Amino acid sequence: MEDIELTNIEECNTDIVDISVEKEVDVEIIDDVAVAEPNVGTALQAFSHNLQITDADAEGQDSQGAGNKGRMGERMVSMGLITEDQLNVALQEKKISGKMLGEILVDLGFIDEGVLSAFLAETSGFGVFDPRNTIVDGEALALLKKAMAVQHQVLPILLKDDEVHVAMSDPYDVVALDTLRRYLPKNLQIKQMVTTSAILAEAIDAAYGYASSIKGILDELEEGKEQKDVASLDESEAFSHPIVRLVNALVFDAVKLGVSDLHFEPEDNFVRLRYRLDGVLYTAQILHKQHWNGISQRIKIMSEMNIADKLSPQDGRFSMNVGGREADFRVSSLPTVHGENIVLRVLDKSSSIMPLSDLGFSEENMAKIASANSKPEGIIIVTGPTGSGKTTSLYSMLNEINDVEVNIQTLEDPVEYSLPMIRQTHVREGVLEFADGIKALLRQDPDIIFIGEVRDKTTAEMALKAAMTGHQVYTSLHTNDSFGAIPRLLDLGMKPGMLAGAITAVFAQRLARRLCSSCKVEHSPSAQECKILGIDVPNAPNIYKTGQGECMACGGCGYKGRVAVVEILLFDEELNEVIARNESKAELKALALKKGFKSMKDDGILKVLDGVTDLDALAKVVDLRV
Ligand SMILES: [Zn+2]
Repeated sequence: MEDIELTNIEECNTDIVDISVEKEVDVEIIDDVAVAEPNVGTALQAFSHNLQITDADAEGQDSQGAGNKGRMGERMVSMGLITEDQLNVALQEKKISGKMLGEILVDLGFIDEGVLSAFLAETSGFGVFDPRNTIVDGEALALLKKAMAVQHQVLPILLKDDEVHVAMSDPYDVVALDTLRRYLPKNLQIKQMVTTSAILAEAIDAAYGYASSIKGILDELEEGKEQKDVASLDESEAFSHPIVRLVNALVFDAVKLGVSDLHFEPEDNFVRLRYRLDGVLYTAQILHKQHWNGISQRIKIMSEMNIADKLSPQDGRFSMNVGGREADFRVSSLPTVHGENIVLRVLDKSSSIMPLSDLGFSEENMAKIASANSKPEGIIIVTGPTGSGKTTSLYSMLNEINDVEVNIQTLEDPVEYSLPMIRQTHVREGVLEFADGIKALLRQDPDIIFIGEVRDKTTAEMALKAAMTGHQVYTSLHTNDSFGAIPRLLDLGMKPGMLAGAITAVFAQRLARRLCSSCKVEHSPSAQECKILGIDVPNAPNIYKTGQGECMACGGCGYKGRVAVVEILLFDEELNEVIARNESKAELKALALKKGFKSMKDDGILKVLDGVTDLDALAKVVDLRV
């Protein structure tokens, strides 16, 4: 028994485990957890109990270890979550108040609760299972019978690739883990999530008591048992109501597939649910019209809308943990002749911030960005229509320059993703507008300012002013290409002389669908394709197109994911002179091309030649005729 336990513990390779070897390390983490996050705390105390560490030990270790600043604090500093100074302030405070370090850091506003729990989950090696905002995956649940789950106090909550996430109150329970390994398919890795035994027992009952797959719930609804009105449910009833489970299951399904929007569209006799995936809409479900009242009410309750009002358009939002990821949903309702049309936009915080290279930025474009970022002042503008991925690129850029040495502040409408160490402000019409917001931000000593969007003259003026007074300003504009930014700003009433020199770079981008790498087919391009690609027919390299037939990876559509097609116009003295002389967009373009400017079309063609996308997908987002 002793041996087994050790092997298992070593496998997990976490700090909690280290307790048995090196007590001082974890004690502090454990006692911090206890205060910061009650659920985790109890669970972690349970493990420490198993590992023969008592609270009394913990207290003793904590006071002894106080002199060496605490490993938890030092680790946070090394991870860049807090600064050395902030740690010292917090430790000072700890001496006075005797509170736990984590709690103090939150109280002082150095980190937020989310960062603290993420840090604790990471250092303990396990995520935290909270059934209140987690949707249990029907597929995972089907892997284990209820009796087994109850006996061993385990709950499979998510099946993802080759992993199964299992909620446990004691993630070191060797017998339970062995049983799971015996009953679950061999190729699955078990990933433990922790919670308290009371919460777990309740979650097991709730999850196994009712169908949780979309089909199961729809069948149950077809049986047509009398159901309570969704609007009158209290929290304990909500979990078991079929409409509530149906909405959860639909949301789960959509997020798992990587869908960006869910459209609930009531028609005369039915409700169509369409998903937008990689920019394209397709029908996912046809639902009975009789359920629409319940479903729409449920969604409106979740997003804190007024359920009594069915005649005005409304906005709302809610967040939910889906498959271990925190996802935000922006919800909008619009009355139509057949009832309220509801659209959910998925803001998946974890998937949104990717390195620029993963988004599809070429090395040449990355070098241009580095050059733009190296200028201490000036405006960097990203242009493109809605859905062109400009927000994602801006976030990725900010994330790359995010550093303890700079103060980055943002004004957004709304704040779509929260970034650590960046102060983000939500702009609201009538409350805090962009122009006033910039004025207020400038008094906050920022180095870098991100203004969600320039839509009017005052905002444009303030942004330019900020850029000319030693700040780097990032913003977005609604124009078609990078050259369109200058006339747009002139339209907003800016003077050519103000623009010249203030703008560092203008980006334009589109998202083209990526060819599915599992089924794409190589072929030699036709004469016409060669003409578009700008290559000679005799020695044309092979390019790729979508595969035919069954493909598990892309569901047979031939595309999977999207890639950014980008152009970056970097300004220099000569280009600035063209702007200052108020010459036409054509003049500007001619000069830029002479200097080797690469358009979105050029960038897209490189991606076609690289086999990342094809001409069909590219033609849908970039004009290939010019
Ligand atoms: Zn495929």
